[in-house]
Amino acid sequence: MLAVKIVQEQGIEVQGVAFETPFFSAGRALEACEAIGLPLSVVDITKEHLVMLKAPRYGYGRNMNPCIDCHILMLKKAGEKMESENADFIFTGEVLGQRPMSQGKQSLHIVAKRSGYQEYIVRPLSAGLLPETKPEIEEKVDRSRLLDIQGRGRKRQMELADRYQLTGYAKPAGGCLLTDPGFAKKLKDLFAHAGAPEIRDIELLKVGRHLRLSDKTKIIAGRKKLENEIIEKLSQDQDVVIQVRDFPGPTVLVPYGCEKEDLQLAAGICVFYSDAPGDVKTLAECRTGDTVSHVDILPAEKEIIRKLLI
Ligand code: SF4
Repeated sequence: MLAVKIVQEQGIEVQGVAFETPFFSAGRALEACEAIGLPLSVVDITKEHLVMLKAPRYGYGRNMNPCIDCHILMLKKAGEKMESENADFIFTGEVLGQRPMSQGKQSLHIVAKRSGYQEYIVRPLSAGLLPETKPEIEEKVDRSRLLDIQGRGRKRQMELADRYQLTGYAKPAGGCLLTDPGFAKKLKDLFAHAGAPEIRDIELLKVGRHLRLSDKTKIIAGRKKLENEIIEKLSQDQDVVIQVRDFPGPTVLVPYGCEKEDLQLAAGICVFYSDAPGDVKTLAECRTGDTVSHVDILPAEKEIIRKLLI
């Protein structure tokens, strides 16, 4: 928002662009743009992001977050948009040194260079500390009116927010889902076992308990009603959906089906997490497409389940 204000103050017309994947949405960008009346395009970059995510050239952060490669991809996409819109340059709200992995001087340089649009990328909040870019040299933007903020403190940003009368803006976010340790663990497991995961396989990582039964088989057990509904909605014809027949309990999904032995275990796990009594066999219903079968089974053992949880 501040970078936009600083550039607009020079009489330059600005358009916003934000990106979406299953790991992050453009929600905050939409809110910010609405607050300052900026038109915003939202671009879905899931396909390219997934390819990059499997083998990021600059590696991962603490979890599965490939922040440098992610920024490179976003700036490449922004550059393509700049060209298609016949715009003069791209700018971001990045501040030198604000985030250790992705906003150090070296990272900003790498990101700009590898995006293919290095000479067109302006960082209005820190431009005074960075090399001059083409639009600055060509005076499309007045470098002397750009700022020289650096570091993790936010004092100058707060003062600017006051000056531009920006209120109700969001606090700095910790990062996208890829920075979440629990999610990262499940994603790593998925990448290790699925050659080419589908988008819905990624969506499934956001719900339920995940248990790996074997190299080929993973199951997902809903923890509450809403998760059961989401799992059901994401299920496909080739999956097995398991539910305990006579007691409340989870919806358990076996994506892409499994061997008989794994199905028995999956049904036992479904019974374990249900309200069925622990000492007698309980009927679990297993559905694949329109075919339904039943397994009469004791709950799986707690210790076994503990070892299978991802
Ligand atoms: S936190 Fe997530 S969205 Fe942000 S740069 Fe890193 S990987 Fe990309």
